[in-house]
Amino acid sequence: MSYLLEAVTSTAADLGANKILAINLVVGERTSLVDDAMTFCWDMLAHDTLAEGATLNIRRTRMTFHCAGCATDYPPEGANFDCPSCQAIGQMNDDGNELLIESIEIRS
Ligand SMILES: [Zn+2]
Repeated sequence: MSYLLEAVTSTAADLGANKILAINLVVGERTSLVDDAMTFCWDMLAHDTLAEGATLNIRRTRMTFHCAGCATDYPPEGANFDCPSCQAIGQMNDDGNELLIESIEIRS
């Protein structure tokens, strides 16, 4: 989380912001981060920085599977990981594990 804070505050400083109002994050659903824990951690880290009091907006991306048999990418249906086209069992794509800063909202 601290690298995130550094990235956000340095971007905001470059933009001449006095305050960061909100941070929009994209988080893969496979990350172990829990929204409540992130928000709590964030409030502590952001204390006395430009980001103090900023709202964390967290958007989860869905993981997808790839079927080698018919080259289809598909999101799993609940606990069913089979390919919807040919019912083969696909491989999990190496995504759904990211943490990206989509945008920030600032006041200058
Ligand atoms: Zn398939």
